[in-house]
Amino acid sequence: MDDNGPPSTAETSDSPDRCATCGTSLDPGSWHPTVGYTDSDGTYRIVRFCSDACHHEWRTSREETGDP
Ligand SMILES: [Zn+2]
Repeated sequence: MDDNGPPSTAETSDSPDRCATCGTSLDPGSWHPTVGYTDSDGTYRIVRFCSDACHHEWRTSREETGDP
């Protein structure tokens, strides 16, 4: 009975299960605002939010911080 491996852990590595603004756990079965962006390192990242409000807050904070 060695076929019972652990649940897949690596498949959803690029699909965060937490809100990027407030850290609330997100239901994987539900739709949430999702944004992809390129980091300052050139790394493509995906972030998710529990609500449009958190999405808006994230965008606003990024714009205020600004890039060099
Ligand atoms: Zn949130």
